[in-house]
Amino acid sequence: ASLSNKIAAGEVVERPASVVKELVENAIDANSTVIEIEAEEGGLSKIRVVDNGDGMEPDDCEKAFKRHATSKIKDEADLFRIRTLGFRGEALPSIAAVSHLEMKTSTGDKPGTKITLIGGKVTAKETASSRKGTDITVTNLFFNTPARLKYMKSLNTELGRITDIVNRLALSYPNISFKFMHNGRRLLYTNGKGDVRQVLAAIYGVPIAKKMFPVHFRSLDFDIRGYLSLPEVTRASKNYISTMINGRFIKNHSITKAVEEGYHTLLPIGRFPVVYLHIEMDPILVDVNVHPAKLEVRISKEAELFEVIAKGIQDAFKKKEL
Ligand code: ADP
Ligand code: MG
Repeated sequence: ASLSNKIAAGEVVERPASVVKELVENAIDANSTVIEIEAEEGGLSKIRVVDNGDGMEPDDCEKAFKRHATSKIKDEADLFRIRTLGFRGEALPSIAAVSHLEMKTSTGDKPGTKITLIGGKVTAKETASSRKGTDITVTNLFFNTPARLKYMKSLNTELGRITDIVNRLALSYPNISFKFMHNGRRLLYTNGKGDVRQVLAAIYGVPIAKKMFPVHFRSLDFDIRGYLSLPEVTRASKNYISTMINGRFIKNHSITKAVEEGYHTLLPIGRFPVVYLHIEMDPILVDVNVHPAKLEVRISKEAELFEVIAKGIQDAFKKKEL
């Protein structure tokens, strides 16, 4: 890989979880309905993502590994208006630049292609099965960037980050079936039937999900639907609060505070609920000056949002007691 490729790669591919994120987002953009993720040793020895999406034409396979070769939109306008997840054409070249990569892909109507790259250089290209979809395997991640490799944490830390990403994507796309395997063990399965509660059960376990109940809060600018767990859930921690805005997973300090406020009279100290909230709002109220790769967003009318969530949660529990 050229130096500039390696430098650019470092921005997109920080760790195994970033590879998983980029590959799965590509699978989502390609209209997949079933996505299988396989990792070994926290993703450092192997990451494989198999989808049943549109696939690529033989001629497009090499192009996809050239920088800025996005087949998607050309406009980086508003993150919350962009329909596809990728739009920079940097992920595949960046991942390939720092790994050994094998891709099998087919549009389903003609023989497929298998292409192999080492450090971003194509070493083989041949015809392959015509099963519709794309199957990418990344091994030896960071083999040519020892500084980056040294920076990796323990297997469990890297696995935790991959799990967070996969859980988040599964929650964001309940209509897609996700399967996640690590070292041969299945860690997540969602059925893709559009049922958020089934995804919550897959992530947090059936006993917790069973006890969660649906809520709907509204104010002038916000329409919020979600599920709340009962206060007695003890296994939870702060990051069991999942929030989405207009179909995108986000983090926002004020929302977390509002959830805590909503529950504060109900929860013994040190216990946290499991909460899933999906906020529909005018995208103009989301601060777009945030890095697209970051989850943290700023929201205008934060006070109104805080109020509707905190009060909504309190009222929901008052109603339950009646
Ligand atoms: P971006 O997603 O920003 O367009 P990527 O580097 O992630 O850039 O991907 C480059 C191109 O490769 C995509 O625009 C798309 O055309 C193609 N591609 C990548 N992954 C897949 C996939 N799983 N299925 C079909 N096409 C894909
Ligand atoms: Mg992409």
